[in-house]
Amino acid sequence: IKRRKLEVDDYVEGVLKCDRAILSRAITLVESNAAAHFETAQQVIQKLLPYTGKSTRVGITGVPGAGKSTFIEALGTNLCRGGHKVAVLAVDPSSTVTKGSILGDKTRMEQLSREPNAFIRPSPSGGTLGGLTRKSRETLLLCEAAGYDTILVETVGVGQSETTVRSMVDFFLLVVLTGAGDELQGMKKGVMELADAIVVNKADGDNKQRAMVTRAEYERILQFLRQATENWTTHAYTCSAYTGAGIMELWNDVIEAFMKQGWGNGVLAERRKQQTLSWVYTMVEEHLHNLFYRSPAIIGCKEEIEREVVGGKISATMAVQDLINRFAAAELSGVNV
Ligand code: GDP
Repeated sequence: IKRRKLEVDDYVEGVLKCDRAILSRAITLVESNAAAHFETAQQVIQKLLPYTGKSTRVGITGVPGAGKSTFIEALGTNLCRGGHKVAVLAVDPSSTVTKGSILGDKTRMEQLSREPNAFIRPSPSGGTLGGLTRKSRETLLLCEAAGYDTILVETVGVGQSETTVRSMVDFFLLVVLTGAGDELQGMKKGVMELADAIVVNKADGDNKQRAMVTRAEYERILQFLRQATENWTTHAYTCSAYTGAGIMELWNDVIEAFMKQGWGNGVLAERRKQQTLSWVYTMVEEHLHNLFYRSPAIIGCKEEIEREVVGGKISATMAVQDLINRFAAAELSGVNV
């Protein structure tokens, strides 16, 4: 079947009407690496910008097996049935490196995917982490414009992905396992310091007691860590994604309370402002980085300058000056522009 080619306004109208087929195609456009698609995608985003920003953006991380997808399924289904519109996105850098992505392979969230008010989108694949970040952020904006009031962004704890997701959400949740003394030991302090809440999942059956103990251990450690959000104390909780116990409590008493407080005291407005600005400058840096390393002027002289600096003929600082000067000269003469 040949699909009708969509123009910018078709995308904009379709997304605003929450036509899910068009929303999906708009996301595919944003994820495309083709230059022509990039142009169209940016025009679409630009027109939809006034309709974005109104959702609750929640990041969810945790090691594989912690129960993230089961948790999201339980939470998302509950929210949908309570009248929310929920979009679930994934940020999985492993999908850019190898064929076997950590998040993408499983048949996931079957129940949630049948909810008419849920929209689930796997991680974009291919390209750099920077590219992945842009695509995910823009996908988030598209979902907001489509009227999704809750955006759940899932990521696995690999590499920089937690920081990436932290930089695009309001609230960051860390899902952990019970009784894992080793895990606790190995848990990166840095990741715990990003979290606005830690939830010990699988607090059910025989595991319940151990989950309580683990919760207390996390609670103790949290006292010594830097807080992730101004005026907010991160606590540890327990839940069971299986039985649903603790999940809506976490949503209502913690996440919603956090959002209410954060919008009230200006912390969220400031967070979003800083996120947008840092997004801009991160992209500038990436763009400059690419321009530099792809510049024929640099490619042409790099080896020789490397030889000179390694051979002790010129200093590292001289080498930098030389490279930058050549780059600037080539750029100014319009060769690469
Ligand atoms: P993810 O890799 O973090 O997304 O983890 P999954 O959601 O795929 O869950 C990993 C395994 O733990 C699966 O076999 C789940 O069925 C199981 N699991 C998830 N949540 C719970 C829970 O609350 N209780 C119990 N007992 N098992 C769970």
